[in-house]
Amino acid sequence: MENKKENVEAMRAYKFRIYPDTKRQAAIDDSISMSQRLYNKLLEKTIEVHKSNPSSKISQRTINQFLNEIIKEDKEYLQLYAHIRVDIRNRLLKTYQDFFRRCQQKKSGAKVKAGFPRYKSRDKFNSITHIENNGSFRIEKGRLRISKIGTMRIEQHRNIVGNVKTMTIKREGREYYAIFTAEQIMTPPKINNTNPVGIDMGLNNFVALSDGQSIQKPKFFKKRERRIARWQKIIARRHKCSNRREKAKFRLQEEWKGVTNQSNDFMHKLSDKMVHGGYTSFAVEALNIQNMVKNHNLAQSIQNASWNRFINMLSYKAESAGMKVIKVDARNTTQECSSCHYVKKGEERLTLEDRVYHCNICGMTMDRDVNASINILDRGRAGLARTDGNVNAQGDMTSAIQQESKSRIEELRTYPANAGEANDL
Ligand SMILES: [Zn+2]
Repeated sequence: MENKKENVEAMRAYKFRIYPDTKRQAAIDDSISMSQRLYNKLLEKTIEVHKSNPSSKISQRTINQFLNEIIKEDKEYLQLYAHIRVDIRNRLLKTYQDFFRRCQQKKSGAKVKAGFPRYKSRDKFNSITHIENNGSFRIEKGRLRISKIGTMRIEQHRNIVGNVKTMTIKREGREYYAIFTAEQIMTPPKINNTNPVGIDMGLNNFVALSDGQSIQKPKFFKKRERRIARWQKIIARRHKCSNRREKAKFRLQEEWKGVTNQSNDFMHKLSDKMVHGGYTSFAVEALNIQNMVKNHNLAQSIQNASWNRFINMLSYKAESAGMKVIKVDARNTTQECSSCHYVKKGEERLTLEDRVYHCNICGMTMDRDVNASINILDRGRAGLARTDGNVNAQGDMTSAIQQESKSRIEELRTYPANAGEANDL
């Protein structure tokens, strides 16, 4: 392989609280609700096209055409910043592309729900995005200036590294946030992969490491779970559209926000600890999003969401330090003996209650999570061996570029959009 410098483009999201005054709040709210209306109008028109000809793909051109029609009919939408309109088009286009992709998967036999694009309620449309950094927004001396909206205080608790690409204004309950994505081009140091480690999302612990260490699940998870479960029950009991139900929904969102903030904080510390822990690469369990959605266990879905954020953080931190993160298929990692590789079957399989793995074949006994993390490490090593020597050596690894949209979405969804209704994440 050539010894060329491998630059990595890392895209990261930065989320800061902003404090618009009443007038600016109204301007932001207006922009958001106008965007929501525009989105739904565009959707309405595209649905008509789809209804009259289900096989026609909704293209960017179609949506652009409708966008022009709508603006002609109602000049109100010209008040929206032009790039916000483009972002709305992109969001709708992406929804359709996802829909068509899932239809295709379904045709080829995959068990997925096609999920036709849906109208967005006020609860679900709560952000606007400036898709380009062309002077329409700027931070200066602790204040954020947004074109067509005004200036406001911003709580910028960390510096943005790299070139700012986009800015999203998001409303969460009664609070407002600005989310910036910034691109950083790095040349990570070359390191020898002498000390890889496997990380298992544990049952007994939050994570277990293949070197035998484990990290406890923080207590706040349990406390928040109880409160979230309680508010969900209250919401289910109250009359739809009633004021009291809305209030309960608000409280539930606050709980989600709380658990997300606490968990983010914890994940930042944990991923820092991993990257500075003397390891040289990481093998982790890839979570299946489909399974995540199906999972109706509240504790599990909170943990899954945290795990995903942890992997995102670990990925960009590891990558900028020249280390790889390999995602592996974790099927049966709990049931496999890390010593003789026998896989337990039927009655002998470990249940949720079993804390210890005992192998009837070779006699090995070990903490169940540590056993699983060793299996994850083994699979990660196999994955590395497959991709080493290949020009595209990043193979299974989560590339920083792929992280871009993920990290943005992650920041955008600090609590699940449907937090009011269900416990899906
Ligand atoms: Zn064994």
